[in-house]
Amino acid sequence: MSDIDPILRPSGRRAVLIDGKAAAAQVDAAAREGALALARRLGRKPCLAVVLVGEDPASQVYVRNKIRRTEAAGMTSLEHRLPASESQDEVLALVARLNADAAVDGILVQLPLPDGLDATRVVQAIDPAKDVDGLTAASAGALVLGAPGLRPCTPSGCVYLARQALGELSGRHAVVIGRSILVGKPAALLFLQADCTVTLAHSRTRDLPALARQADILVAAAGRPGMVGADWIKPGATVIDVGINRVDGPDGATRLAGDVDYAAALDTAGYITPVPGGVGPMTIAMLLVNTLAAAARRAGLDLPEPAARMLTS
Ligand code: NAD
Repeated sequence: MSDIDPILRPSGRRAVLIDGKAAAAQVDAAAREGALALARRLGRKPCLAVVLVGEDPASQVYVRNKIRRTEAAGMTSLEHRLPASESQDEVLALVARLNADAAVDGILVQLPLPDGLDATRVVQAIDPAKDVDGLTAASAGALVLGAPGLRPCTPSGCVYLARQALGELSGRHAVVIGRSILVGKPAALLFLQADCTVTLAHSRTRDLPALARQADILVAAAGRPGMVGADWIKPGATVIDVGINRVDGPDGATRLAGDVDYAAALDTAGYITPVPGGVGPMTIAMLLVNTLAAAARRAGLDLPEPAARMLTS
């Protein structure tokens, strides 16, 4: 069922790598095609507005990448940069202006917000029709109900990559480690919607390694570098590593590490996402598809193929 290129199996190892960069490139290409088709119907390009408050270096990199990929996909990207000293009222006023702007299809407020700003209030102020991060209460409620709505990008990327590896997910046991609003909880709901049997584990879960070993699909989203060892993985399981952790490398420089002990897991897992190059690139790809979906729905149009196929639910 898998269309993963077998040459991605490291020689002598059991696991096949799930190439998130290649998958994201496919989704980006579909988004570009969809953006062209929608632009013809709308008389303008679909448009994503990105709000960045403050100078957080990681956020600046994320925002730059989001803008670059949005424009490469043939959409308009509006960048709104505010100083860290901006008041809550000013940030809310900007969100209100973007909500009211008919030419804006998607609004993304880059998190975390600087101290003194209430991220929940800001995010919940976004019009659910433009909530391309899928984080408003309306979007979360739609996900719980299985109703149409915009789904959070990183969890959607996880489901997309699991489908790439395994094809049909129905009946498989997905164990999700981490219960954050951004990743763990929506990932559990999306795998449930894909007819998986889902276990949602967290920091208070008892005997997590034994539980994880029951997973056909193991999603690690705890933010703990290398936490998932080979003995946490059922032989042949599909491992989706969401973790992005900065750790000290052997040469004194820092490097990125996932939540999975990747080198050890290669002998046990059937499929595995690397870090970097796994879930990370898929997050922006899903943001592009969500922006298209928002643009189409707001105009009462169907999302054109092949972009529509990229939506996970
Ligand atoms: P978070 O800190 O909000 O949540 C972590 C969750 O993991 C919590 O629910 C907690 O209960 C659980 N947890 C913590 N320690 C645990 C332990 N020892 N055993 C079991 N569960 C434990 O983090 P988050 O925002 O959900 O992000 C999780 C990880 O995913 C981070 O490394 C983050 O950088 C990464 N992330 C990656 C992307 C991406 O695009 N790939 C996007 C968002 C987050």
